Amino acid sequence: MEIKITKAATLKEKPDSSALGFGKIFTDHMFIMDWNVDKGWYNARIVPFGNISLHPASTVLHYGSEIFEGLKAYRRADGKVQLFRPMENIRRMNNSAERLCLPQIPEEDALQALETFVSLEQDWTPSAEGTSLYLRPFMFGNDETLGVHAVHNATFAIIASPVGSYYKEGINPVKIMIEDEDVRAVRGGTGYAKCGGNYAASNRAGERAEKKGYSQVLWLDGVERKYIEEVGAMNVMFMINDEIVTPMLSGSILPGITRKSCIEVLKKAGYKVSERLLSVDELGEALENGSLKEAWGCGTAAVVSPIGELCYKDVKYTINNGEIGKVTQMLYDTLTGIQWGKLQDTFGWTYPIK
Ligand SMILES: *Cc1c(COP(=O)(O)O)cnc(C)c1O
Repeated sequence: MEIKITKAATLKEKPDSSALGFGKIFTDHMFIMDWNVDKGWYNARIVPFGNISLHPASTVLHYGSEIFEGLKAYRRADGKVQLFRPMENIRRMNNSAERLCLPQIPEEDALQALETFVSLEQDWTPSAEGTSLYLRPFMFGNDETLGVHAVHNATFAIIASPVGSYYKEGINPVKIMIEDEDVRAVRGGTGYAKCGGNYAASNRAGERAEKKGYSQVLWLDGVERKYIEEVGAMNVMFMINDEIVTPMLSGSILPGITRKSCIEVLKKAGYKVSERLLSVDELGEALENGSLKEAWGCGTAAVVSPIGELCYKDVKYTINNGEIGKVTQMLYDTLTGIQWGKLQDTFGWTYPIK
């Protein structure tokens, strides 16, 4: 694939690493390419970062044809920049695209786009502890008509944002509320796709939880509202006695790359991991009788996020005295160690940028 590069006339000043939040500052350039059902992908280019102009009837604005990915570039101690399992993001994006009738991107083209873009922007990868360059690939339907059908035109882009450490004041366990009213996804729907629409439908419950002092909601399945699914933007794991339980990928849960990596690290360390149904009753019992030892969420943004309190139908349960547990800490240390290049990557997960 040929990528035409047009460099920005002037480069922005890099922010101080203490001023980084999440997704507020963007780099100098962006990758973008277009697709047409007859032409395929065309006009792959890197251009100065800026607004995208859309026809007012553009599909994405009316029918929500949009998918995205999230991954990070990490600055290693030796100054090199590396990605973490980028092919996993590329494959998941194509799975999401299939679900929303958006076009597939050949894996090698998507990797080339990512690599070329990150290589050009790598000076934006901050080096302070816990900071990284967040990469946001996204694709949307872009037909200029109000007719409803699988799209004939689409756009794929990648933008990048230097982000601060998720844990500025140490790893503080979060409070999570089990949501028993709204549901996020149902089997047969778009739950396994990383699409904007899932988030649009989640916001109401998230806002309600926040008003009550909880940082995110824990979703139950959309049919029986009985089985645990996942947290807002993270998958979830529970250590019940010596079994680590995480909801199985039933079609309504996002197949997280951090989830997959946690499972591989845990299995290698000799833990018993079960991907299975976990009912809210079983979880409640484990909370009551003390067999729930640890609970954590896992996703790219936080890596792992210990859960210190769970609330269900207004009853509050404290987990592990509201502190991070041993297994959660081990996962955090292992994954961040590999990502920032402090630990040897025995899994072959890292992808250095030239
Ligand atoms: C992105 C995402 C996750 C986490 O996936 P990672 O690949 O680990 O970052 C979990 N749940 C939802 C709903 C997500 O959008």
